[in-house]
Amino acid sequence: MGKTKRYCYGVCLRISIAVNILFSINLYVGGGGGVEISSPSLSWSEKAAVEAEEVAAISCSGHGRAYVDGLIFEGQPACECFQCYGGTDCSELSSECAADANSGDPVFLEPFWMQHATDSAVVISGWHRMSYHYADGTTTSKELENYIRKVHSVVGNAVTEGRYLVFGIGSTQLLSAAVYALSSGNSSSPSNVLASIPFYPMYKEQTMFFKSEDFQFEGDTNSWQSNNSTTNMDVVEFVTSPNNPDGDLKQSVLGGKTIHDHAYFWPHFTPIPAPADHDLMIFTLSKLTGHAGARFGWAIIKDKEVYEKVLEYILIADLGISRDTQLRVLKLLKVAVEGDGKPLFEFSYSKMRSRWDRLTNVFSKSTRFSIQKRHPLHCNFFNETRLPSPAYAWVKCEREEEDDCGAVLQAGKIIGRAGSKFGTSDRYTRLSLIKSQYDFELLIQRLTELVSLENGHSETM
Ligand code: PMP
Repeated sequence: MGKTKRYCYGVCLRISIAVNILFSINLYVGGGGGVEISSPSLSWSEKAAVEAEEVAAISCSGHGRAYVDGLIFEGQPACECFQCYGGTDCSELSSECAADANSGDPVFLEPFWMQHATDSAVVISGWHRMSYHYADGTTTSKELENYIRKVHSVVGNAVTEGRYLVFGIGSTQLLSAAVYALSSGNSSSPSNVLASIPFYPMYKEQTMFFKSEDFQFEGDTNSWQSNNSTTNMDVVEFVTSPNNPDGDLKQSVLGGKTIHDHAYFWPHFTPIPAPADHDLMIFTLSKLTGHAGARFGWAIIKDKEVYEKVLEYILIADLGISRDTQLRVLKLLKVAVEGDGKPLFEFSYSKMRSRWDRLTNVFSKSTRFSIQKRHPLHCNFFNETRLPSPAYAWVKCEREEEDDCGAVLQAGKIIGRAGSKFGTSDRYTRLSLIKSQYDFELLIQRLTELVSLENGHSETM
């Protein structure tokens, strides 16, 4: 069936797109009676547009996606199936499949972008920005910089006036650029890099991986403080606010040089009490719009010297960020600021809130497992007091003998990330709440089954 049906579908789609294009041309160029806007007829972009829409229209039984750059199977773009689904059209479900809540893949925002398909699509010509440089000789789009400042001013989550901006390949690259920029560069006495437990593992992993003579990872701020006098100590402290894994709005412990990682400081995850105004702040597109795959982040920096060092790192590592990526990010941020950010953040917050409502309902029936406490705060963006809705549930196994919480959850077909990865005990496990709706439904189902076992009966959903 597939081939003929898909062929007919492709032909119909092409006809429908061509009719739409002709209709639009007639509307704008033809005598519609209104103001005449001359619009060029489409030539080179039409074929790419048809290809993009054809691939996007492949349904994969609703349990997968096909992409223009995906593998080809029997002459057609192959379906990439969601976890637990298989087969060429992703119609085969493996019922015993575990709920994978390990990764912080922010696919929960995919439906928003499908709803805003028209405004967020990008067309890239074969000769788009082939140069290493923009016309001003830099490697950054000034228009994109304007839109980043605009997003922060609309949301009210960071001060950007009079501050320098540097783009990075995801905020991941900027984390190490920031450590480089803030370390004293004195190899006989390396700067001490610290974070507060539980902390995002990448801080330790990167600092150790790069094995610099100028800095070294020294672990937890609180233990450091009790063992050292911090006055005159050369420290670079990561302050993650809201924190990954527990969603806490953290503040500096040591009061020295800081890198404020604000990856999650957006209205879907936390009330925004005031604009952040720290010396070096890092944000990422991944947790703002959900486009982790675009690999784009930015740093907001007060001090010119620090800015120059962060920029130096980026230029030496990569000669700047892909111009194609910058174009795509610009397009996405234009949608993000539409309606003063209300459409995006109302969508994202209501999604996270409903996930938290369902999650707390399940955990309220358990004494075996607990999750972090959440405290209401005033949100300047929504102009009301709200509970945070963090990206992750930070689960604790309460029974004395269950000190490997990951193993307990795994036995209940739930995959989380072990507490020891975050510098703390395995009595804790992080569960991601920002994956697709399908992933979340499976997670809730498995959690409900696990909690109902504890209450002496088995309940399925
Ligand atoms: N900081 C924190 C706290 C994170 O959780 C993440 C991603 N999970 C990052 C930085 C890196 O994000 P990206 O490289 O996608 O911008």
